[in-house]
Amino acid sequence: MSLADEQARLDAALSEARTAIPNASSTDALTDLERHFAGKRSAASAVNEAIKTLAAPERPQAGQAVQAYRAAIAELAEERRQALAAEEAATAAVTERIDLTLGAHTRPRGHLHLVTQIRRELEDIFIGLGYRVAEGPEVEDDWHNFEALNIPPAHPARSMQDTLYVHLGADEQVMLRTHTSPVQIRTMESQAPPIYVVVPGRTYRNETLDARHSPVFHQIECLAIDRHITMADLFGTIEVFVRRLFDDDTIRTRFRSDYFPYTEPSAELAVSCVFCHGSGCRVCSHTGWIELGGCGMVDPNVLTAVGLDPEEWQGFAFGFGLERLAMIRYGIDEIRTFVDNDLRFLEQY
Ligand SMILES: [Zn+2]
Repeated sequence: MSLADEQARLDAALSEARTAIPNASSTDALTDLERHFAGKRSAASAVNEAIKTLAAPERPQAGQAVQAYRAAIAELAEERRQALAAEEAATAAVTERIDLTLGAHTRPRGHLHLVTQIRRELEDIFIGLGYRVAEGPEVEDDWHNFEALNIPPAHPARSMQDTLYVHLGADEQVMLRTHTSPVQIRTMESQAPPIYVVVPGRTYRNETLDARHSPVFHQIECLAIDRHITMADLFGTIEVFVRRLFDDDTIRTRFRSDYFPYTEPSAELAVSCVFCHGSGCRVCSHTGWIELGGCGMVDPNVLTAVGLDPEEWQGFAFGFGLERLAMIRYGIDEIRTFVDNDLRFLEQY
């Protein structure tokens, strides 16, 4: 073999490399091509082997030719490697992108649960009427949940409220509160009248979760204690409240005699249907009225239980369920959808 033959062999390999290396599809493919064109079985290696067969004066030239070839292959490979790195970084930026909007440095995604929204809205209305928000424990004792509210042991009203008792102290003395009314007692025990409070909160009953019942639900109730308070104050307050709630000044209120142990007299509170304005629709069961909750004048026995003189102080209270209010307003059929954690439901509100 002559020097010219060896040079031709290197030229042919380099020509092939100038097409193959710039088209390497990945860094792994590029490494394989480098091995093919410059490795142990490459043209460069073969020419190096052949150098000893050449005439002595040609050997340095052959060595330089191999070096030039290797340098050319290395340069082609380096160019392609840089191009591939840029392409791969660009791809990763898209496929492995971190969504920075999830970070704590931006506004949180999502929103408040519907029940929380309603609760805050109601609190705002009552605060606008001069009330203060009061809260109390969800685990209560018998005195605050029942007895001070004029529900003595064996009173039939206890069986109206299926209670979840807690294994603490004597049997059936500690419980998950069945209503928000114990906060009325706690407020009157800790604060001298006049008292104007609104009490939102979670309540519990021994119910199986189904379309209409839930063992956990929310109530809000209002308590006013002052001198010379009459039922006219109760009715007037409720009317102002429901008109603000539904943003409708034509809403009428209806009171029908009812019974609650802690109020006397007691009434069931209904409002004219905000959907059909009294002509009858599905929401109001074609009665034209929607029952919202209960109300009444604070029973003198309750005032006496907290050390207030019923001759000096009077008061009224009314309350209702927050889920029920949301169901009426948004036409929600099943109470369990509030706790199903189904985003398709939650995202609508
Ligand atoms: Zn209606």
